[in-house]
Formats: sequence, structure tokens, C-alpha cells
Amino acid sequence: MEVHNGQNVRFWTDIWHPQGRLIEIAGEIGTLKLGVTRTALICDVRNETGWAFRRCRDGQMRELINLVETHRMEENTHLQDVVLWRKNETEFCKHFSTAKTWHRIRTHGPSKEWSKVIWFMFGVPRFAFITWLAIRNMLSTGERMRSWGQVQGCIFCGEPNETRDHLFFACPYTYTLWIEVVGTLLGRPPDPDWKNTLQHLITHGFGELEYILVRLVFQTTVYMIWRERNDRRHLKKPRQSNLLAKIIDKTVKNRITTTVYTKKPRLRV
Ligand SMILES: [Zn+2]
Repeated sequence: MEVHNGQNVRFWTDIWHPQGRLIEIAGEIGTLKLGVTRTALICDVRNETGWAFRRCRDGQMRELINLVETHRMEENTHLQDVVLWRKNETEFCKHFSTAKTWHRIRTHGPSKEWSKVIWFMFGVPRFAFITWLAIRNMLSTGERMRSWGQVQGCIFCGEPNETRDHLFFACPYTYTLWIEVVGTLLGRPPDPDWKNTLQHLITHGFGELEYILVRLVFQTTVYMIWRERNDRRHLKKPRQSNLLAKIIDKTVKNRITTTVYTKKPRLRV
């Protein structure tokens, strides 16, 4: 806090002194020793002549009083106190930026090579999220559920081991679907192998618009397969792969047309 009239800054618990929160220096007992309540504002403790602390002989408290009295503040009773935001380790500023704050508090790591397959303009967040889980192999497939004592085979073809790699796209049902929706977009025949598919999406030199489309088709397919798999588990009516292909096709088309006509974005990858 930048103190001016002191009406919005708590003496003990706000950070306004370079040493940090005073309550952490003095401890709860300090409030009694100095005669300043825990919720007191700076304007309650100061008057025209300076700080108004209770007389106190305690050495630690004398040190604290000295710290407070020697700290220079740009006091101005006509100005409101200002909240400051941390800019870096030593500097504070008056403007709050969500982006800067996020970068300050998050743990930074190197970018994954697959991140561009997940995050791109025109992407649909819920499709990106499920695809992100799939890439990290964090979807609760039968293989992962086994550690919870649940045995669950592939609901599409009966394969006893339902793994991520089986679902995308080694399973006959999902591979048929993948072939149908992706067509010639990959620039080569679709591969049932998950790692090959992902590697191709990361490294193949697609054109700009082509790359947007291929990622959108990929993510929509992963999402729809996962949804169909869950729907079937909840005993909903199964959809044939050609019907699901039509739904994916329509979803992708809708996404492209609504984005182009309503948002008028600049095309950038
Ligand atoms: Zn299967």
C-alpha cells in the first residue's frame, strides 16, 4: 500500500512498511504492548504531531517503533491511499495486469512441443481440454480405472484393454471414424497409431488455414469419441461411426462459419 491519508491501510496487517507486515515482526502481543488494536488503520494511530503509541519499555517494541518512525511516507490527507501491485522482486506499480500477475505466480516450464496442437486461435476450449488430457494420458480410460479395481474393456469393440492409444485410433470403430472425418487433410493416409498421428500433427508442414482445420478436426474427433464412449457407458443409444462423423463435420463447419462471420478475426496461427 502507498500511504496518503491512511484511511484504508491497516497498521498491523497490510504491507506498507518495507519490512513487511508489522504483525509478523511484533506478534499478536505487540497489539497490546503498543495499545494499537489489530484492525486499527494508520489514520487511527497517527495525528498531526506524529505516531501515537502507548509508552513502552519493551526492547523489541522500541525497535519496531523506531522502524516505523524512521520510515518516510508521502503523507497527504487529501489523497486516498493507493493499492500497489508487485511488478517484480523489488518494484511495485499502480496498475494491475492479470497477465503479468499470472506469469508471476505460475510455475514456469519449457513449452511442450505438442502445445501448438492444443492451443490455437479458433480452438474450442472444451475440445482442447479433453485433447490435452488425452495427450498427457490422463483420461480415465479402462486401463487407468483398473488401479481403482474397475475392469472396463473398450465399449466400441470389446477389446479387453481400453487404453488411450486404443481409443485414438487403434479401435476399429474410432479408426473408421477418423478416416472418414480427416479425409485427405493430413497429406497422407490416416495412421491408427496415436504417437505417429501426434508426431505428424506437430512436425508436418501444413499451410496456415489447413493447420487450423486439421487441428480443429483432430480435437473435435477426440472430444466426440470420448463423449460417445461416456454416453454409451451411461446406456445412451449408440451412434454409428458415420452418424458421429456427420456430427463432427457439422460441428467443425459451424465453428468455422460462426468464427469467421461473427468475430471477423485476423487469421493467425
Ligand atoms: Zn475398441
